[in-house]
Amino acid sequence: MALRKIRTEGDDILRKKSKYVSEITDNVKILVEDMIETMNEANGAGLAAPQVGILKRVVVIDVGDGPFEMINPEIIESRGEVEAYEGCLSVPGKSGKVIRPEYVKAKATNLKGEEFIIEGENLLARAICHELDHLEGRLFIDIAEIIEE
Ligand code: ZN
Repeated sequence: MALRKIRTEGDDILRKKSKYVSEITDNVKILVEDMIETMNEANGAGLAAPQVGILKRVVVIDVGDGPFEMINPEIIESRGEVEAYEGCLSVPGKSGKVIRPEYVKAKATNLKGEEFIIEGENLLARAICHELDHLEGRLFIDIAEIIEE
């Protein structure tokens, strides 16, 4: 495992759309391991591959129950609205008030190549939405109502 460099706002790669992962190769496995290590080291709740310079549809999330990976994640259901402050490892020193769904149901593939469904509320729902936005080249500062430094 190795720490990867976290790209920050202003880096073009954060604005690009990530590509679908068609096969779980050793490179994808190493990427996930490195992303989990990098997220933990930075005390983040989530990290998306473009944040470490890789345009692949891979995210890792840890909202306190241990890390897990989502490959080719897709939101299939959401409801409710919650407004709360969030931040991003790629936008250091800033936080913003963002409206996100209260509940999200998503599907993704894990490193074993198995498809799974995850349901999340509040913090987990927020983390899933935030990380999936990265795969589309979106940052929370694009949709935040208030940004504080
Ligand atoms: Zn982020």
